[in-house]
Amino acid sequence: MAFSHGYAALARNACVEPFEFERRSLGPNDIAASILFCGICHSDLHAIDNDWGFHSYPLVPGHEIIARVTAVGPGVEKFSIGDVVGIGTVIDSCRTCEPCSHGEEIYCETGATPTFGGADRLGTMTYGGFSNDYVVDEHFAVMIPPLLDPAHAAPLLCAGITTYSPLRRANLQSGHKVGIVGMGGLGHLAVKWAKAWGAQVVVFTTTAAKAADALRFGADSTVVSSDLEQMASHGGSFHYILDTVSAPHDPTPYLGLLKLDGTLCMIGMPAEPLSISSMMLAWRRLIVTSSMTGGIAETQEMLDFAATHGIKPEIERVGRSQINEALDRLRRNDVRYRFVIDMGADLVEHP
Ligand code: NAP
Ligand code: ZN
Repeated sequence: MAFSHGYAALARNACVEPFEFERRSLGPNDIAASILFCGICHSDLHAIDNDWGFHSYPLVPGHEIIARVTAVGPGVEKFSIGDVVGIGTVIDSCRTCEPCSHGEEIYCETGATPTFGGADRLGTMTYGGFSNDYVVDEHFAVMIPPLLDPAHAAPLLCAGITTYSPLRRANLQSGHKVGIVGMGGLGHLAVKWAKAWGAQVVVFTTTAAKAADALRFGADSTVVSSDLEQMASHGGSFHYILDTVSAPHDPTPYLGLLKLDGTLCMIGMPAEPLSISSMMLAWRRLIVTSSMTGGIAETQEMLDFAATHGIKPEIERVGRSQINEALDRLRRNDVRYRFVIDMGADLVEHP
């Protein structure tokens, strides 16, 4: 066991503050890695605020981790000291159930171990990437392609895979009309993937000032979702709509925009349950679905795809001393489009 330094919320809704804790010692198949960058996802904020009701404190958030390998166990085959790796939302699973054996570790039937805020298989609390290091079984780390800048790669470990995975399964064809609802960390990457697959992309936003950015990211057009006339002009025309909104909202208007057999995929995770009319679904035989991040092999595929296609998250870099300010701005929907903590930027301030 070695001491790690992180930033923890000590209670619900609290600011994060310096916190010392122990990581497990290096196992035979583990790598230890020094954290370079960590993205700030809205799920970190939901967890700090206990929006989902199952978190406990102290809580060290962070699951968009870029780190440099500092030690490898004797059984490690994939990585060497010095490699730059990514660690996303899951750090262990049973590896034998049906989802695990198909590379869908996040859907492990016995429950995947989350990178932070959950119990690992020994019952020890996991602490996330708002910290200086991580120890993980090599299976659950991915290689960052050299073509990707490490700071910009961080958001791909959650926002990237969470949007890539459902859009890839949607089998988008050139010309398919795809809507992206909410253009934050997840939404802005969804625009970039959907464009890479040749879709016609429309962004639905509550923030009119984001329209120019949406077009710059490749969207064909934007709709301010409070404008009922603009919304109505797209009635019955979408193959697929990906809803990434973090706050409670009514999905019904988006059902009215789908074609026969269209899909609404709700990947945002507001605290409150949804209310959906089955009459609306029956009217055009619609599918409402969701998706949880993605598997490890799929995460590697997504990173390689991003490197090959030049897909790069838009980030605002912050130092450790600015984490609370960044969380506060994320709460107020004031981020363009993902905060990434540079763990080395103001190291001097670390206790
Ligand atoms: P984010 O950066 O805060 O983006 C959320 C976007 O939602 C905002 O940029 C905003 O877009 C829109 N929005 C915010 N408040 C709204 C409101 N009251 N009404 C309508 N729209 C609103 O958050 P994120 O990191 O992308 O995460 C988005 C959601 O996905 C969170 O709930 C997060 O927990 C969830 N998530 C799920 C998974 C999964 O596995 N399914 C993985 C990661 C995250 P506009 O300004 O464009 O309107
Ligand atoms: Zn996340």
